[in-house]
Amino acid sequence: MAIERRYDVVIVGAGVAGSTAAYLLSKMGFSVALIDAKPNHRAGDKPCGDAIGKHHFEEVGIDPPRGEEMDGIVKGIMLYSPSEEVVLTIDGEGYEINRVRFTQRLIRDSIDSGADYYDETNASAPIIEGGFVRGVVAGRKGDKLVFRSNVVIDASGSARSIIRRLPQDWPIVDPIRPEDTQIAYREIRVLDEWIDKPEYIRIYVNLKIAPGGYWWNFPKSIVRTVNVGLGVQGGKGYEHPRVYLYKYILTRPEFRNSKLVESSGALVPTKRPPYTMVWNGIMVIGDAGYTVNPVHGGGKGSGMLSAKAAAIAYSKAAEAGDFSARGLWIMNKLYIDYYGAKQASLDIFRIFLQRLTDEDIEYGLRKRIMRESDLYETSVTGVIKNKRGIFDKLSRVIAGLGRPSLLSKLILAAEYMDRMKKLYEEYPETPEKLGEWIARLNSIYSSFEKALAT
Ligand SMILES: Cc1cc2nc3c(=O)[nH]c(=O)nc-3n(C[C@H](O)[C@H](O)[C@H](O)COP(=O)(O)OP(=O)(O)OC[C@H]3O[C@@H](n4cnc5c(N)ncnc54)[C@H](O)[C@@H]3O)c2cc1C
Repeated sequence: MAIERRYDVVIVGAGVAGSTAAYLLSKMGFSVALIDAKPNHRAGDKPCGDAIGKHHFEEVGIDPPRGEEMDGIVKGIMLYSPSEEVVLTIDGEGYEINRVRFTQRLIRDSIDSGADYYDETNASAPIIEGGFVRGVVAGRKGDKLVFRSNVVIDASGSARSIIRRLPQDWPIVDPIRPEDTQIAYREIRVLDEWIDKPEYIRIYVNLKIAPGGYWWNFPKSIVRTVNVGLGVQGGKGYEHPRVYLYKYILTRPEFRNSKLVESSGALVPTKRPPYTMVWNGIMVIGDAGYTVNPVHGGGKGSGMLSAKAAAIAYSKAAEAGDFSARGLWIMNKLYIDYYGAKQASLDIFRIFLQRLTDEDIEYGLRKRIMRESDLYETSVTGVIKNKRGIFDKLSRVIAGLGRPSLLSKLILAAEYMDRMKKLYEEYPETPEKLGEWIARLNSIYSSFEKALAT
């Protein structure tokens, strides 16, 4: 016999996004069920580089990690060119987070605010009635559970456990192409010898080692412990990143005699947000809602921001008693404002970057085509501000320095990034206009990809 429960909101997935949503919604006074397939002690245990910018916590309005919730303080990023002869240092405060302890704090705070947490509970299907999602069916230790709710939030990560079981013509489904993903893998290792400046995380761009992505070495403050890993672009037939890690990275002197503590990998969606993050009775957040930064692959901060957008939108829908796509629509606007417009514009930049060769990247970093401050600005805002400087360099290059096509394509990317941001500013006010907007979006992508190919 099935056990039936009723809540305002059922959240599938207690990762950083789902737990943030559970905390914010329960604090607002809504009844919340937070369910996860993992046992309690493994909640939040998801492969990650664990780096997160400090600003995200201020933006979401959640206390930053403290004490054992963090494994280190980050003061900036050192970005290495393919030859490693050029190193750009970009300052910026952040943390190496202890993802398990931090997520478990969010879960505890949700429970303290009244949420019910169901661990070892696997959501197997949405309940769809009259064109609305009305809940989910789940299994727990042999029992069948039926959760009924006003809204289901899919926060199940790249599994997209609920979204992918919806009718395929709902625009929230918006399936991802393999080439818009990264296959990422990382190991936690204890080094034989400690490295210089452990408060700086290292990013290495080298397409032989990490095709279509990059590899990283993020030191933790637990002495001599690092998070080392890489992402490779999906859909291109590259080998699993573990192969590259063992072939090219762990054979480097700094990893000699290092000891393995932990290893795992996962798929990361690296594209623009979905056409819509809501539909009748359903919302999507975190990796399930493609909220990852397409350029650097960080998704914890933006996942929490999407949770904040979902919580505010739910409270407005509850006030109006309207949980349809129209009633929940404000979530799209909020997320676009917090992060989505920048994310879509960075998706254009990502497509541009993935067409470059190591030689192009070496040239760009050596000639400081974009300065450290510009790179930081672009990653924070999604806009290449110093276009004038790039144009000036382009004229000098055309006059004899070399690589005009690289610079003209960078300018092309900057123009399309602006167009994309503008399109997101014009996101429709209601679901009825979505089809027309999607057509404009798809036309920007196809004309950009065509222009890049010429
Ligand atoms: C190797 C690697 C390195 C990364 N490095 C960084 C980094 O340094 N910084 C950063 O910000 N981001 C990084 N990311 C991305 C980041 O880890 C994710 O964006 C983020 O953790 C996503 O959180 P989430 O809550 O959306 O999903 P998840 O953390 O994946 O949580 C989803 C949860 O849903 C549960 N679930 C799934 N299906 C069901 C179901 N049917 N029923 C019940 N429960 C279900 C899962 O058990 C899981 O707990 C990295 C990712 C990888 C793979």
